[in-house]
Amino acid sequence: MQTKKSIKKPICFDNSYALLGGRFYADVKPTPVEQPGIIKLNYGLAQDLGLDIEELEPEAWAEIFSGNHILSGAEPLAMVYAGHQFGNFVPQLGDGRAILLGEVIDNSSCRRDIQLKGAGLTPFSRQGDGRAALGPVLREYIISEAMHALGIPTTRSLAAVTTGEPVYREKVLPGAILTRVALAHVRTGTFQYFAVQRDEKDLRQLADYVIERLYPELKVAANPYLKLLEKVLERHAGLVAQWQIVGFIHGVMNTDNMAISGETIDYGPCAFMDTFKQTKVFSSIDHMGRYAYGNQPSILQWNLTRFAETILPLIDKIPDRAVEYANEVIECYPERFRDYWLSGMRQKLGLFISEPEDESLIQALLDTMQENEADFTLTFRRLSDAALTQENEGSVRILFNDTSAYDNWAKSWRDRLSREHKAPEERFELMSQANPAVIPRNHQVKQALDAAEEYGDYGPFEKLLEVLSSPYEVPEVYSEYLLPPKPEEHVLQTFCGT
Ligand code: AMP
Ligand code: MG
Repeated sequence: MQTKKSIKKPICFDNSYALLGGRFYADVKPTPVEQPGIIKLNYGLAQDLGLDIEELEPEAWAEIFSGNHILSGAEPLAMVYAGHQFGNFVPQLGDGRAILLGEVIDNSSCRRDIQLKGAGLTPFSRQGDGRAALGPVLREYIISEAMHALGIPTTRSLAAVTTGEPVYREKVLPGAILTRVALAHVRTGTFQYFAVQRDEKDLRQLADYVIERLYPELKVAANPYLKLLEKVLERHAGLVAQWQIVGFIHGVMNTDNMAISGETIDYGPCAFMDTFKQTKVFSSIDHMGRYAYGNQPSILQWNLTRFAETILPLIDKIPDRAVEYANEVIECYPERFRDYWLSGMRQKLGLFISEPEDESLIQALLDTMQENEADFTLTFRRLSDAALTQENEGSVRILFNDTSAYDNWAKSWRDRLSREHKAPEERFELMSQANPAVIPRNHQVKQALDAAEEYGDYGPFEKLLEVLSSPYEVPEVYSEYLLPPKPEEHVLQTFCGT
């Protein structure tokens, strides 16, 4: 390996999952690739993780992030898990193409997983090839980093590399590997795997591990496992409320794609909406619209209930009592979700205090947007401008097919605003921080991926990443990124690319 200096530890691994024992994973090394090349290294994240990026040349990092070179301290493994896929239970899935290299303790003393996605076959690959194509890797890189910049909990992207090998999907595509960073890759499906085997010892070991790693404050609780359910519910209610608030559609909310840490994980056919529609679905595999935008909150409740079921034996030895306790927690979900959602939506509308009628005001706007095919992101962003001065109102109303429908709603909004004594500047400030100017719009993501795939041109990818890194404040030179797609640019479907 080519090194600048002779220090041997560019990544200091400190692994804990590997200590759980062989029932939790399979030891498996990444399959070497022919010709690894760096597409992107996330310097900021690398620094947070305490990695010494400068220590090695990019070629050496390409060897590491392709899995060709295993650093000392890494203990590569594929995690086992189960999951409900589109409502159907699969008792064993597992990392079919992801390999956990190990964990590091970041600069905030937080433990983080470093995992290669697309690193080759594992015992859980089933019919898959263990690989990832360039397009989906870049897609996950862009969208996960955009989510992070929006302030939404998410797994991160540390690196993207090309493999120099083809992958075979509907057509031959260039192969790539993503290095994904997470607070933990434990999923609802991980709990399901052990629960279905009725192996209480392993289940308890997993739960204790999760509590120790992610929620250590629960250790002293009278019933830590019941508290774990509460905590997971709380994190996810907050998370999915944030998705709704930016118009993000995950696309595959299967229980194996739900991280116990409360991070958004598994960017497959996800997408951000342009024009607002509750029933919006982009995923090519979601034929019934199970994971449509408007269904996400109730699907989360379904998933949380599946999680609750897994830990019932830990919550109480007496089954009926366990169910009763768990139900009490799950029943709180609709209200917890609503609280998160309402407080986020209030901010989007520039409301500082809460009034009982706020929900109907918000709902009326969403209904009007839907009926009039208004662009989700632009509507809210331009409302911030309209809050600053009514002269800006024209830029919002033209987003609605029937401008008078907006005017009607805006009248009740203005009435509501007038009941709060706030300076327009203050309101603008509040709203600007809640209403992003840019989101990873599908047509822009597609353009970046097409340029990379077809011409090896990563310029548009780099530029898009740059714009999305500060979504609430976009320099004038990037104003083209604010625009919704032209009719011919509309992306109607997204694919998970597996
Ligand atoms: P996903 O839909 O990406 O959440 O994946 C569902 C399951 O399929 C997981 O167990 C993945 O590890 C597995 N999988 C997805 N793509 C591949 C692939 N190309 N090779 C092997 N396994 C895969
Ligand atoms: Mg998955």
